[in-house]
Amino acid sequence: MKRKGPIVAIDGPVGVGKSSVARALAQRLGFLYIDTGAMYRAVTLKAMRLGFDLSDTETIAKMAEETELRFVREDAALRILCDGEDVSEAIRAPEVSANTSSIADNIKVREHLVNQQQRMGEQGNVVMEGRDIGTVVFPCAEIKLFLDADPKIRAERRYRELIEKGKDVTFEKTYADLLERDRRDQSRPTGALKKTGESIIVDTTHLTQDEVIDELCRIVMEHASLS
Ligand code: C5P
Repeated sequence: MKRKGPIVAIDGPVGVGKSSVARALAQRLGFLYIDTGAMYRAVTLKAMRLGFDLSDTETIAKMAEETELRFVREDAALRILCDGEDVSEAIRAPEVSANTSSIADNIKVREHLVNQQQRMGEQGNVVMEGRDIGTVVFPCAEIKLFLDADPKIRAERRYRELIEKGKDVTFEKTYADLLERDRRDQSRPTGALKKTGESIIVDTTHLTQDEVIDELCRIVMEHASLS
């Protein structure tokens, strides 16, 4: 299929602020925004609700293949529907976050979701965000951004988010969970989080969200000659 425009791949570790900045960037550019982490989370939530053993790779893969995932835009927000149900809030629960790594380790689930992501983004004019977008989903992406930040700062951001949502968490547990998710995201045999030779690395440790969005916008304009 002939592309209408560029693909902007954004990868990076947990808590780096990818979702918020990717959404804002897509909005500024008038591009489609796709949060691939939400897809892994939705599959995890469904498996948990069904009481499945998350290490049973065959059953989980079959379930994922029989699951309908759809994104819908609601004002500026992106909602994810799993078999028609809006699970956008439910997938953010800490228990789902903790279990998503097991589902993301499942090679058949990855193959299935990567296929869907490729179909969703194939027309271009898209900002797609995750862990393996620039390496596996769209290695041909015109712009590959890699967001990074100090793990303690990322844990602080995540902790504040959870507290604002009224979750009962401690900073120590948030930090330990983040380090464990980093470890699993980086050591996965397929779809591991890694920079490519073409990645443009943006360290967000000392930047505000608006500064990150401005910087990403500037990079995309420069690389895609969109200005
Ligand atoms: O980005 P987010 O934290 O919502 O992703 C949830 C989990 O899904 C991550 O910890 C990661 O294990 C997995 N994931 C993945 N590949 C992607 C996006 C997310 O493995 N492209």
